[in-house]
Amino acid sequence: MELKSPFDCILFDLDDTLYSSNVGIAQVCKKNIEKFLAKKCGVSPERSASLRVELFQFYGSSLSGLIALGYDVHPDEYHSYVHWTLPYEWIKPDPQLNELLKSIQQPKIIFTNSDMKHAKRVLERLGIDEQCFNGIICFETLNPHLFQDNSSSSSSSSSSSELSPEVILKPSMASMEAAVRFTGCDPHRILFLDDNERNVAAGKALGLHTCLVGKGVKSKEADYLLENISNLRKVIPGIWGKEDEEEHEMVIRNELGSIRPIAQVGA
Ligand SMILES: [Mg+2]
Repeated sequence: MELKSPFDCILFDLDDTLYSSNVGIAQVCKKNIEKFLAKKCGVSPERSASLRVELFQFYGSSLSGLIALGYDVHPDEYHSYVHWTLPYEWIKPDPQLNELLKSIQQPKIIFTNSDMKHAKRVLERLGIDEQCFNGIICFETLNPHLFQDNSSSSSSSSSSSELSPEVILKPSMASMEAAVRFTGCDPHRILFLDDNERNVAAGKALGLHTCLVGKGVKSKEADYLLENISNLRKVIPGIWGKEDEEEHEMVIRNELGSIRPIAQVGA
């Protein structure tokens, strides 16, 4: 049977989207970034906290800011410090999420600013088979130029100048366009889920269907609001080609009906 859904592909952010922000990983990550900034830039712990916020606001991320300001930082050095030491054991297996994802027929792609090693660790902790996804768009996918050998300048478009390489991350349009290219789908047929309002706004600007996750209030660029990813089937039944929640309940009732005698629920 052909699936009647408005979505040909689904892009999932990872952190604070596939697991709750209440897990606390983001808070530890922020502390790690501040420690890294203190070490790298030689600033006090107090200054590193405000510096992290400033770099995020002006450059989109601390790593982007450090590179733009000319610090000699390799992405792997940064990620090994701020990500790879995270308390991943705080993330618990989520078999319901695994089942939910497996029930989605469309291609599913992880779209995260994090590095590949982190993404794989998180999926592993959640108990989600990486093969469940048709791909992972991550820091390395978005920034292959940062992993090339610096000694050969042939790929540099800035010729003799010493311009810092640009770091491509959500919510930049370049990152969103890269993700759409990766899917090979019409942006108007893609559903994008993310916990960050700025990322959601960038997705909307490209014409994607958008869903803000983990928040209590829907931003204006979000088509849907999910307080928790576990509500996905209820809030966006169109993924499964269903019109609305009532129709989904009919399916559940029918499934129950195959177990129980024919009597309808509530009859
Ligand atoms: Mg996130």
